[in-house]
Amino acid sequence: MELPKGWIFDIKKFAVHDGPGIRTTVFLKGCPLRCWWCHNPEAISSRPELVFFANKCIGCGECFKVCQRGGHEILDSGERVYHRERCVLCGECVEYCYAEALVMEGKEVSVEDVMIELRKDIPFYENSDGGITISGGEPLFQIEFTLALLRQCKAEHLHTAIDTSGQASWANYEKILPFVDLVLYDMKHIDPERHREYTGVRNDLILENLRKMSQYGVPIEIRMPIIPTLNDYRESIEGIATFLRPLENITRLQLLPYHRLGEAKYERLERDNRMPSIEPPSKEQMQQIATWIQPYGLEVNVNG
Ligand code: SF4
Ligand code: SF4
Repeated sequence: MELPKGWIFDIKKFAVHDGPGIRTTVFLKGCPLRCWWCHNPEAISSRPELVFFANKCIGCGECFKVCQRGGHEILDSGERVYHRERCVLCGECVEYCYAEALVMEGKEVSVEDVMIELRKDIPFYENSDGGITISGGEPLFQIEFTLALLRQCKAEHLHTAIDTSGQASWANYEKILPFVDLVLYDMKHIDPERHREYTGVRNDLILENLRKMSQYGVPIEIRMPIIPTLNDYRESIEGIATFLRPLENITRLQLLPYHRLGEAKYERLERDNRMPSIEPPSKEQMQQIATWIQPYGLEVNVNG
């Protein structure tokens, strides 16, 4: 039987923040959330996207010549324009752009394509108790591919983790959990309406799935992005800690400070960036937030 293929936008080797040990993180395309602070906007669409790096363009004009659809144009003003609405993502201009100013974000891969990459790093996993993490985007957005990849990893005795938003049907979690050693579970806000405002969806399903998962028996690490002014205040943090306290199998709460490393991607993808004026939290602020959580009996870590 042929295994399903999946769309990915990156495979990151030697990852040390996506679960225990040295890991390889596979980033899948497609996400049901629209978080204001998303630092992987290339993950949002489940389709590939053409990205133009203006700083690399040498103006050779090859892309204008090759594109049959008028996807690239130089206006009389001299401005170079990519017409996303005309582009059918055939990828031909990417092939002809020797300066690598045009990049196709997203490629279709088979389970075996990914396994070939993973097997190269098995010695590192073995020496560090590491493994593979499937991230995104939302791994359950491509449930059949994620399931097939996890099954194959377990068949080859690799430690597996998924990094999930919680926004997926419980039926799909039940499919994959038998093949998952660790869940990295994102929590962004405890208030349903604020959650909807900042991510596009309420958090009812996310909280319900987490309750069910905590009964399932798999270890769960909670990951909470700390976004100044949106969720970094005491009421919000303690609301999450209160929700987590009675749950079982929560190994720790990882605080992830907001950073601005993804900003340039918004420009390249021509997407609105809703966070331009927000500065990352300081180390002192992150430590302060950790002290608010400690009384709830949860192990808390600050990343970065
Ligand atoms: S082919 Fe690449 S380098 Fe040449 S004009 Fe087009 S984008 Fe620029
Ligand atoms: S990907 Fe194809 S259709 Fe799109 S701009 Fe390039 S050559 Fe034109």
